[in-house]
Amino acid sequence: MIFFSMPKMKWIVLTGGVLSGLGKGIASASIGMLLSSKYKIIPIKCDGYLNVDPGTMNPIEHGEVYVLEDGGEVDMDFGHYERFLGINCKSEWNLTMGKVFDTIRKKERRGDYLGKTVQYIPHVTNLIIEWWLSVARKEKAEVVLIEIGGTIGDIENELYVEAARQLKKIVGEQNIMYAHLTYIPIPACVNEQKSKPTQQSINILRERGITPDLIIGRSAEMLTDEIKNKIATFCDVKKEAVISGLDVDNIYKIPLIFEQEGVSKIVSKELNIKVKLKLKKWKGLVKNLDSPEKKVRIAICGKYTRLEDSYASIVEALKHASAHLKCKVEINFVETSKLGDIRKELEKIDGVIIPGGFGERGVEGKIEVIKCCRETRKPLLGICYGLQLSVVEFARNVCGLKNANTTEINEKTPYTVIDILPEQKNVLEKGGTMRLGAYPAVLQKDTKIFDLYKNANVSERHRHRYEVNPEYHEILQRNGMVFSGMSPDRKLVEFIELKNHPYFVGCQGHPELKSTLLKPAPLFYGLVSAAMIKNQQ
Ligand code: GLN
Repeated sequence: MIFFSMPKMKWIVLTGGVLSGLGKGIASASIGMLLSSKYKIIPIKCDGYLNVDPGTMNPIEHGEVYVLEDGGEVDMDFGHYERFLGINCKSEWNLTMGKVFDTIRKKERRGDYLGKTVQYIPHVTNLIIEWWLSVARKEKAEVVLIEIGGTIGDIENELYVEAARQLKKIVGEQNIMYAHLTYIPIPACVNEQKSKPTQQSINILRERGITPDLIIGRSAEMLTDEIKNKIATFCDVKKEAVISGLDVDNIYKIPLIFEQEGVSKIVSKELNIKVKLKLKKWKGLVKNLDSPEKKVRIAICGKYTRLEDSYASIVEALKHASAHLKCKVEINFVETSKLGDIRKELEKIDGVIIPGGFGERGVEGKIEVIKCCRETRKPLLGICYGLQLSVVEFARNVCGLKNANTTEINEKTPYTVIDILPEQKNVLEKGGTMRLGAYPAVLQKDTKIFDLYKNANVSERHRHRYEVNPEYHEILQRNGMVFSGMSPDRKLVEFIELKNHPYFVGCQGHPELKSTLLKPAPLFYGLVSAAMIKNQQ
């Protein structure tokens, strides 16, 4: 196979060591962010699992499923990439072993390898390299950031690591650098920073033929000179190339810490590029997060509360609104599958989010929460399932449609106010078949939602199979529900609100997916603003 890479394209490969969950996605996004004001950065994430994409996984297993504009269901790290880089990523930028083997098998059946034994090396590694190069060429990337999932030494990621080693020969030594994110513990018994886990992890990396050019040590404290020297000596890097990845209360500080630690200098030297930083606005918003003038409590009421990562983009979208409103948002996760006295539970809460979800567990609890918000005039943002269940609640308790429901959980309900989308009726395969990705909506002018978006033509990302049943549009509207946004053909309800309520808002899409620190999502900004007013009452 002859590989062809653009001569000036630069590559950064990030691996992780010692522990999972150290924040490779945020580290990678932060490095990219520092370079992004001058260069076109394309992030690629490589996951070791055999699912083609995470769309069929429970969020409790793997965190939130992130949805892209093009409808790709991808790893939640893409949320970090998009939020830090301000770009729209594409589904091919998430490579999984599921995709790799799917492609290899098809190629073999087609006869692409006729006469050959198809092997991990070179066939699978070549396919991985060709995938990276083709994404980079197609996007005319200036810097490609490859993040390899998992921890160095994991069996399922070995082929990516081997491909990353070979990449150096293809793109040229001067065009590639390897970064490694590791963990520096401070055991209570000795109370000092320890380098041994890092030494061992770098040893594994070097056994694979990769010597790092940058080591990021995640730790509860900034790394001392002493530990940097030690790592530099044992791991064969320059001392300046060992930097702190400090634990922070707010991930938007990471690019600033990286900068303070000299990341852009190291990268520009290694790759022979010139970095121009543009951090002023970012710094100001980070400062706002550190010095809020007000505080509100927002409850996220769902059934995946056991793992905070299940709602990662919602948590971030709240932070974005918080930075612009100079108001601290304290988040309370409320598990709706085992709710006690709901009114009591929500007493101290200034605003509620009912996030997206699937299936029956926790649904009646969510409906109770919605009822309480409607009756006590508590600000509510219903996202996707949250919109659908707000319609169910309204149908039951305002329109008098007893036992109204969504057919997702009760096909025999007398009032099918939420029903399967017509085009979904004959869908049999579960993977990648929902109504996915960006869809436009037209907003009605004199509504709260229009005021927030300040635009009649909007677009949000979707991930659903059900919708507000058109047969019930009339009765819902007659009883006071406002359809503030519809699909352009006016068939599908995209946004709802109630007139005589300070903020009872629902969205069929997922506005959290497009929120960034620099540009918060309007519906989150609206929720936090309404919660601030509620808090003053
Ligand atoms: N389960 C609902 C549907 O499929 C809502 C999905 C969601 O909240 N993302 O339509």
